[in-house]
Amino acid sequence: MTDCIFCRIARREIPAEVVEETPSVLAFKDVHPQAPVHVLVIPKKHIPRLMDLSEEDSALLADVHRVVQEAARRMGLTDDGFRLVVNNGPFAGQAVDHLHYHVLGGRKLGWPPG
Ligand code: AMP
Repeated sequence: MTDCIFCRIARREIPAEVVEETPSVLAFKDVHPQAPVHVLVIPKKHIPRLMDLSEEDSALLADVHRVVQEAARRMGLTDDGFRLVVNNGPFAGQAVDHLHYHVLGGRKLGWPPG
């Protein structure tokens, strides 16, 4: 158990607009959306960065991807598509040290990112 902000959201100690929940994964709306749809999908387990994942997290990662699919369906992103982003570490601008997937959609997104 940690005091990180996403652990606290997962424990429902901090409010969030939840889109989808399973026993191991939570999807909720980003508080500063960068697109018409901006959902964060997190494992409830505290994993600081993508590079901290290990083989024992394989099933959890599959769960995360299933929740990404379900959140995308629920938010109406299936036909037009969406982007899935993981910021890993300082050069990527990771601000919250709890692994999270950004689901961004609802408009055409530029590439490459800044
Ligand atoms: P990153 O820069 O990849 O670490 O992204 C962290 C994301 O968390 C940012 O897009 C923030 O807007 C978002 N965020 C921070 N605090 C909250 C919160 N309490 N509820 C929802 N989203 C949050």
